Amino acid sequence: MGEFDLIRRYFTHPPGHAPQVVLGVGDDCALLQPAPGKQWAVSSDMLVEGRHFFPGTDAARLGHKALAVNLSDLAACGARPLGFTLALALPQADEAWLEAFSRGLLQLADLHGCPLVGGDTTRGPLNICITVFGEVPPGQALLRSGARPGDDIYVSGTLGDARLALAALQGQIALPEALLNSTRLRLEQPTPRVALGMALRGVASAALDVSDGLLGDLGHILHASGTGACIDTGLTSKLIAVGAYLESVEADFGHEFLEQCALAGGDDYELVFTAPATARDAVARASQASATPVTRIGQIEASSGLRLVGPHGEAVAPRYTSFDHFA
Ligand code: ADP
Ligand code: MG
Repeated sequence: MGEFDLIRRYFTHPPGHAPQVVLGVGDDCALLQPAPGKQWAVSSDMLVEGRHFFPGTDAARLGHKALAVNLSDLAACGARPLGFTLALALPQADEAWLEAFSRGLLQLADLHGCPLVGGDTTRGPLNICITVFGEVPPGQALLRSGARPGDDIYVSGTLGDARLALAALQGQIALPEALLNSTRLRLEQPTPRVALGMALRGVASAALDVSDGLLGDLGHILHASGTGACIDTGLTSKLIAVGAYLESVEADFGHEFLEQCALAGGDDYELVFTAPATARDAVARASQASATPVTRIGQIEASSGLRLVGPHGEAVAPRYTSFDHFA
């Protein structure tokens, strides 16, 4: 199978109803047509084998995740997905792998009406780089810089599950099989919160997606907004989705480990966002409209720095740091 057969077989896919795609895979450029007056939202994310995923990771899940992490960036800006390109380095043209990878990738693309419109394919160590294109009404993108003192801080869904699965896959802890399977799905097949992000336009004052850990990623909002924040660890430690296993997991690994997963675990791709206290009803409506649970975890403050308080309002020393590729 040559390079062009490979592209035709696995990465040329009828876009379905996608009027924004004037021309897709096959020419020197794809042609996209955003709605009149809309702004582009553009983001790239790369997944490198051995760095972002284990060698041998299920190919369908990997295809899903490669696009999911990019859609998550659009979600964090409140943008609507329009299409994406895929730059792929492959050690060999393994048909079973390509079939599963493209299936996982294109299923998620179809779900979000975000067709694959082009890319590049080369031989090399497994490396997947996607650039995603979206649109947003002018001035309505959710930025990191909009948080104001007094704003509530929210997080969507659950936090720390992916970190729990990672610890198990790295052999640091042993999880019950059902819990390993459910948390592993969060790690390997995250759900981008696209509908929530779009519903938060005009409601949230700032937003980003959690890829490196809540505390570190929230720090980016604080830095960009020139504010500080106070987070209630009594609320954040409940965000980890161990459900019925909470007691046994706490008994095995300690409360602090779970708290660390929730506060500093990466790879969850939930949204962290802020909104004025007057917008609580609007936030609840956005949550309902997008069928995405959200939890209020703290408040933006005028003085810089991130303070943690425990369930009884006592100060908690932050012990956790987020992931940094070059730290
Ligand atoms: P060029 O040499 O002009 O850059 P290529 O020969 O690399 O073009 O690619 C041919 C066509 O296939 C282009 O339309 C390109 O966007 C598309 N393409 C290449 N690799 C991929 C891929 N992995 N996924 C989707 N489209 C791809
Ligand atoms: Mg090329």
